[in-house]
Amino acid sequence: MAGDHGGQKESWHTLDAAAVMEKLATSPQGLTADERRRRLAEYGKNEIKEEKKVSPLVVFLRQFRSILIGILIAAALVSVFLGEIVDTIAIMLIVILNAAVGFANEWQAEKAIDALKKMLGLSATVLVNGSQVEVDSKDIVPGDVLVLEMGKKVPADAYVIHSATLQADESALTGESVPVEKAVCSLEEETPLSGKRNMVFMGTTIVNGRGRAVVTATGMNTEFGEIAGLTESIKDEETPLSRRLNVLGRQISIISVLVAVLIVVAGLLQNRELQEMFMTAVSLAVAVIPEGLPAVVTLTLAIGIRHMYNKKCLIRHLSASETLGTVSIICTDKTGTLTKNEMTLKEIYTPGHFTDVGGAGYEPEGDFTRDGQVIDPTADEGIRAFLRAGLFCNHAVLEEMDEEWKILGMPTEGALVVAAHKAWIPEYTLDIQNIKKEFSFDSSRKRMTTILDAGGNNHAYSKGAPEVISGLSSFYLKDGEILPMDDAARNEFLEVYESMAKKGLRVLAVAEKELGNELPETAEEGEKDLVFLGFAGIIDPPREEVKEALRTCDSAGIGVIMITGDSALTAKAVADSVGLESDGVLGAADIDELSDEELADRLWKTRILARVTAEHKLRIVGILSEAGAVVAMTGDGINDAPALKKADVGIAMGIKGTDVAKEASDIILVDDNFDSIVEGIHEGRREYDNIQKFTRYLLSSNIGEIIAIAGGLLMNLPLVLLPIQILWINLVTDGVAALAIGAEPAESDIMKHRPREIDRPVLDRKAMLMITVIGAWIGLLTLFVFIRSYEADIDEARTMAFTGIIIFELINVLNFRSFRWNLTNIGILSNPFIVAALVASVIIQVAVIYIPWFQVFLSTVPMPAMDWIILAALGLPLLFAGELYKYIVRKKGEKIKPGRERGYLSSS
Ligand code: ADP
Ligand code: MG
Repeated sequence: MAGDHGGQKESWHTLDAAAVMEKLATSPQGLTADERRRRLAEYGKNEIKEEKKVSPLVVFLRQFRSILIGILIAAALVSVFLGEIVDTIAIMLIVILNAAVGFANEWQAEKAIDALKKMLGLSATVLVNGSQVEVDSKDIVPGDVLVLEMGKKVPADAYVIHSATLQADESALTGESVPVEKAVCSLEEETPLSGKRNMVFMGTTIVNGRGRAVVTATGMNTEFGEIAGLTESIKDEETPLSRRLNVLGRQISIISVLVAVLIVVAGLLQNRELQEMFMTAVSLAVAVIPEGLPAVVTLTLAIGIRHMYNKKCLIRHLSASETLGTVSIICTDKTGTLTKNEMTLKEIYTPGHFTDVGGAGYEPEGDFTRDGQVIDPTADEGIRAFLRAGLFCNHAVLEEMDEEWKILGMPTEGALVVAAHKAWIPEYTLDIQNIKKEFSFDSSRKRMTTILDAGGNNHAYSKGAPEVISGLSSFYLKDGEILPMDDAARNEFLEVYESMAKKGLRVLAVAEKELGNELPETAEEGEKDLVFLGFAGIIDPPREEVKEALRTCDSAGIGVIMITGDSALTAKAVADSVGLESDGVLGAADIDELSDEELADRLWKTRILARVTAEHKLRIVGILSEAGAVVAMTGDGINDAPALKKADVGIAMGIKGTDVAKEASDIILVDDNFDSIVEGIHEGRREYDNIQKFTRYLLSSNIGEIIAIAGGLLMNLPLVLLPIQILWINLVTDGVAALAIGAEPAESDIMKHRPREIDRPVLDRKAMLMITVIGAWIGLLTLFVFIRSYEADIDEARTMAFTGIIIFELINVLNFRSFRWNLTNIGILSNPFIVAALVASVIIQVAVIYIPWFQVFLSTVPMPAMDWIILAALGLPLLFAGELYKYIVRKKGEKIKPGRERGYLSSS
């Protein structure tokens, strides 16, 4: 990186703000768009270079780690000693082919994960020519002015030029977990990193307040860049499924070695030739191990990540896509998830008066009416004070872009900004430098306060949950007079609040206080003896698609619990409007009162939890997990991180979520939409189903090969299939078919049965029986076609067996598209990949038999056309039997358990 601004040796902390600005050639208004572009070209992207990038060579070499390769290489060496150079070459070709196929799959998967890492980028807000703009964190340049607020990740190292109780959690950098309060000041040269109160650093997070800072260093020049490698990125960790498959694979390998040894010994006792026995043993080892399986699983999961993203679920951990398919309870937020999070202030209550606010969306146009009469809001002191407090206790910015009005920030806050602009009063322009303090909103405080300096006269503005704000108020403003708050007044206000909440309005109380020259240090001091100004009644329309999604959850045996910080009444009204059934609402106090067992019981019927804090969320995840549920939990706030981590699937909101929540999550919900969670579960179930289908398919194929070879041995025949032929089947034809099964569309009733138990083995007894029967059938057929002609010509017989087993397998693919539905139900052509795989495999096999180069490689000879037809005719009954079996089983009424039957908690 070029330039001298970016060097980390610079002592920025010793300078004052003006000097920093000058050195970086910028201003408090930020840079211009052109200048930003120029600097980006000069300094490069603001990113941490990853230490190690997986090289193709590493991925290739990784393919040689398997037991199979060990066996094969040993076999190749033994053949050298036996003087069988042709065998040595054949075996080495197998090794290379195996590695090549494994490499191709893994490289694909690696690339898919890389692409995902790119999508994970965070955004940051900067000033461009004085206006706030959201940009990709990677495009930050030195000289940019960052707009920082609670919940944001600091994208680069920067010098603080404004701090309203700006506090950063710097534990990622310094290990110190107590937040550091930032200030505008100059410091001593030798101040240690942890003491640099006038700087914020890349990789740390803002946990309170707001402020602005000028970027001094980006990318590898940041403090964080120096300790690079600590970046949290997606890990390509093993998923529970791949772990189970690996165990299965290891067991199979061990069995294969034992069987091979046994066969060689038995053969030698029969006085057969050592060399022939040896090749047979190698064949068997290759036949037993499903070489294609790990690669196909990895690739299917990687492709699945792309699918999930299309459904608006951004997977941060590979295992999450798998767990998602097993979710049995979704704990969901209300705001943004069940509702649209498009907040419009509809009603203002100021003591003694209801005022309706007209207009739609974020456009700042609309009348204020009282009892049907249009009024001038600027002429009413109560409304003026109310709107001013709402505007000044706020982070949201309203702006017009391309004729469309947009809110940058929280929609709840945006609603207040829009309302203030509808009654525009010029003196309401806010100079950010006048904000002296901020006690930020979080889900346990349920309020927020800013303190402004209006020319030596400090003023506190607060907003928050009605019962909280009214509890902190000692006065109220009525018709221009400040009156002491007595019980009668407080009760009257709370009654008004209830009536508003019952209508489904989100209600926010607003208050203020004159402080004179006093500047409170703590929230307790700043938020006492407030003057209550009134309530904002905000509508947030429900999402239309949620009703249907809830019905799907119901039939899929997935419990849904609404967990909201909002009031019980609003929560109930919203639940009713989206059709979430519940017998009542549990408030924070109820939850605290109940023991874990009682709460677990209640949660079965009461599915609305209101005024909940992050601590409650954590407790609820624990209780539900304890009861055996697989819990998906949504979250957005900085306090939600522990609950998100603890849940089986932590889901952060893509739009309204803080960076902190996103980093703690397994999945980021791109559009915040509840429906997308359900879509994600649907996709997760489909993926798992398909992995199960092709795993069984591949294993049945292996059993077929084993039976053919072992059968030949028992009947004292020559080797039925050569090792290279078996490997070819396992890797090429079966591999292609398995991938196609992986693309199978979801079965129509996939969301009409309960979630599968997470620790159920990939193969249960019934499945074992099924694949054994099918495998035996295929193996015996193969043996049969071999026996027909081996005496005349061994190569011809092997070609028949080789082609035969492939044809039988290809027909068998159709059996594995569904375990329960007939082809007529799922549609013969509904999976084009299957059609393509079948056609391609036949073409390849024709090539293998008739093209001389392949003939040498795979020891094949040309086969008369009639033989193809015979093989197909022999194979078809396999399909008929499968179809008949499924039909009978379904008619016999072996029903899968519908979701509703057992509920979602094992205790119920
Ligand atoms: P939810 O996201 O479930 O609606 P929150 O935890 O975001 O709930 O909010 C809980 C309550 O805190 C809201 O009902 C509201 O009264 C209050 N609140 C929400 N946002 C703000 C804010 N930005 N400033 C002050 N109070 C807020
Ligand atoms: Mg919220």
